[in-house]
Amino acid sequence: MKSADYWRGRFSLLEDAAHVRADQCVDGLEAIYRDAERSVQADLERWYGRFAANNNVSLFEARKMLTTGQLEEFKWNVDQYIKIGQQANLSPEWLKKLENASARFHISRLEAVQMQIQQQIELLYGNQVDSIDSLLKEIVSNGYTQTAYEIQKGLGLGWDITALDQKKLETLLSRPWTGDKKTFRDRCWEQKAGLVSGVQTTLTQGLLRGDSVHKLTESIRGRFGVSRYQAGRLVRTETTYFNAVSSRETYKDIGVEQIEILETLDGYTCDLCADFDGTVIPLSQFEPGVTVPPFHPHCRGTTCPHIDDKDGERIARNADGEVYHVPANMNYKTWKATFVDGGDKDGLTPATVAQIVRDYDSEFGKKFGKDHYDQIRDRVDACPNPQLQEVWNRYEGQITVADPHHNGGAYCRGTNIYVGINGDAKARKYFAPYSTLFHESGHAIDGLAARLGTPNGQWHFSSTYKNGLFPTTIKKEVDDWVKGILSDMKAHKTDFQYWVSQGWITQETADYYRICGGGLRITKSMAFDAVKREMQSLTPLQMADISDILEGATRGKIVCGVGHGAGSYWTTRSYNGIDWGLGTEAFAEMTSATMSCPESLAVIKKYLPKSYAVYEEMLETILAQP
Ligand SMILES: [Zn+2]
Ligand SMILES: [Zn+2]
Repeated sequence: MKSADYWRGRFSLLEDAAHVRADQCVDGLEAIYRDAERSVQADLERWYGRFAANNNVSLFEARKMLTTGQLEEFKWNVDQYIKIGQQANLSPEWLKKLENASARFHISRLEAVQMQIQQQIELLYGNQVDSIDSLLKEIVSNGYTQTAYEIQKGLGLGWDITALDQKKLETLLSRPWTGDKKTFRDRCWEQKAGLVSGVQTTLTQGLLRGDSVHKLTESIRGRFGVSRYQAGRLVRTETTYFNAVSSRETYKDIGVEQIEILETLDGYTCDLCADFDGTVIPLSQFEPGVTVPPFHPHCRGTTCPHIDDKDGERIARNADGEVYHVPANMNYKTWKATFVDGGDKDGLTPATVAQIVRDYDSEFGKKFGKDHYDQIRDRVDACPNPQLQEVWNRYEGQITVADPHHNGGAYCRGTNIYVGINGDAKARKYFAPYSTLFHESGHAIDGLAARLGTPNGQWHFSSTYKNGLFPTTIKKEVDDWVKGILSDMKAHKTDFQYWVSQGWITQETADYYRICGGGLRITKSMAFDAVKREMQSLTPLQMADISDILEGATRGKIVCGVGHGAGSYWTTRSYNGIDWGLGTEAFAEMTSATMSCPESLAVIKKYLPKSYAVYEEMLETILAQP
């Protein structure tokens, strides 16, 4: 399970990405404001040029009516505004006002310029609402899927999720969240009205004072500056809010129950709410603006899931549909194609409930303790053989850990295993960590699968299966291997150099024969020796399991140094011609190698491919048992 720091780091990056988009939006708005400002300035200058006497237009002059010619020109302008306004989706109120103006017989000079200015401001806010609207839609919909990606990737488990649809988006965006029950759109309209009346007041007062056109445009620019600042603040605060809304939706849909507040982000700490940093609250109390950021205008806090072991499992368990393991290197694009856009799941491993839910109250969980159990389960979950994984998951709960801290040689009796888990957890020369646990459990499963004894008197599945096919196959495969070497030796009876190249004799011995003459007397024991030498050239981890299998298969003719030895162990474990001792040891060794030691597994598959194939066949058969 990922640490709290992992989640904080990932969600800090998500917040950052949202604010990079917000900054781009603010930059776009700045440009729109500058354009509007320039147009208003140009309109005012033209108007001054037309009506000024001595570089000055008094309020009295400004309130004079337009002449017939000027009125016609004005109405032509208004008609253009209406056209533009309809295309730009300007407010019905403004369009109505324009239509009224177009029908009037008397319009003052001042009213004429005021309408020109308002047209610019209406256009400005029309653009502003559009760009904030599309920004926030993106924040919410991308935020939703990206949050889901982060959670699934962090859990290492994925299942299909449905992206937010247009309708849901609209609903979320149109819900007011501040105490005054205003949405960001309401706030834009309010700010627009403020700018319109502010500019008009400035204009009227400037004319009253007899300000120059330069002074007048400067004051109006000041008004625009305030509105521009408000727009930036709105964008950033709403981004934080809707970022929170989108994560709330994901948390809800994915089943995150606890969340943590993040006020110290990557390279940014909110001074005003640093104290909230790290606070954990249940999702039921998740209320952006109240219990989670934004706590104030410009607030850049966020949240991340607060997930412990059990939570991750519960979340995955409640998932709709099939759950898969998400590879650690799966990127957002591939993940989205797979789990959001309904891509195929080829190549992904399905995660069974037994894998997702680590039951620390189980026999293994309780007896071995959480740390060892996690290590054991990590190996099972990563098992390269899906059949063995499934067999294990079916039988783990039926194995009794009779002694988890057993001193001396580990063993299995019936369903009871005796293992010294602390020592087994360590890597040793011949054994990978936990290989003894998997070996003894392999014996237990071998017995359980045969229902601990069958009518033919055999105790293990590995010897009852097809009347001893498994030990028979191993013996035959080893025998063929030895015979192959033997006939190769015979074929190269006099080619001493070939013997050297095969590692069968040393250069010294070859030289001796060449000089002293006389041929080699080839015996089967030479072939056994050849196999032994080849095994001993492997690393200890590679040879440990196959070494014991070779001993059993040849009843001690090939002893490489790791195994039950050449004594009576193998000869006494035979019944009705079936070497059940070999069968169950090989079953346990293949189980352990597959679960815990890739080096050993590779060697078994290389030298005994037919035997491993029977092992796999047995696993299939065990799975097919009722
Ligand atoms: Zn803050
Ligand atoms: Zn054994």
